[in-house]
Amino acid sequence: MARKARQKDDASRSTKSLAELLGLPPPPPNPTECPDCGSSALLPICYGSPGLEMQGEARRGEIILGGSILQSANWYCSDCFNRWPENPPAKGSPGTPKRYIAETAAEFASLTADAALAPEPGEPVVEDYWQRADGRKIFLLRCPWGRVRIEKRVHLVPLGGTPLYELTDGEWPPIDAGFTKTHRRAALAAVRFERRQHS
Ligand SMILES: [Zn+2]
Repeated sequence: MARKARQKDDASRSTKSLAELLGLPPPPPNPTECPDCGSSALLPICYGSPGLEMQGEARRGEIILGGSILQSANWYCSDCFNRWPENPPAKGSPGTPKRYIAETAAEFASLTADAALAPEPGEPVVEDYWQRADGRKIFLLRCPWGRVRIEKRVHLVPLGGTPLYELTDGEWPPIDAGFTKTHRRAALAAVRFERRQHS
């Protein structure tokens, strides 16, 4: 048995990978933990229209279907719904439109106003949160049907804007819950949570 393993080792050493033959750098090793939460419950993200094999792998929870538009994220964390690596910021972007900054500021004002009122029954609950080195804050919330991830992004603040609370991923609500309504309820719960932290 030991000899067989050694032979296999020797064979793999003498065989060049396709990347090596093409002169490409070796692919980075598979990550062992999520860079956000440290969980080892990671799944590869596969893109393209899934054939039967890919559909089966997705059903068995071995991969995540990324859809038909290729993104740079190729790993997914089942614990905090992180997807990475993130797409690089768009090059030559003409800047953030003033209208967008105003719209998000109005949304933020409405969220903070509602956060001062008593919570509605069944409001999502923050189960965990942390701040990333890039200033982004991550909230994991428990909703009646499952968990969602809210990211508080502050990149508009230096431009005169307000923080943004984005529902980026998580367990999908039932259709009748509505995504926009769900997003707002989760964002509101995150804002309320922060208020309690600071008071
Ligand atoms: Zn994670």
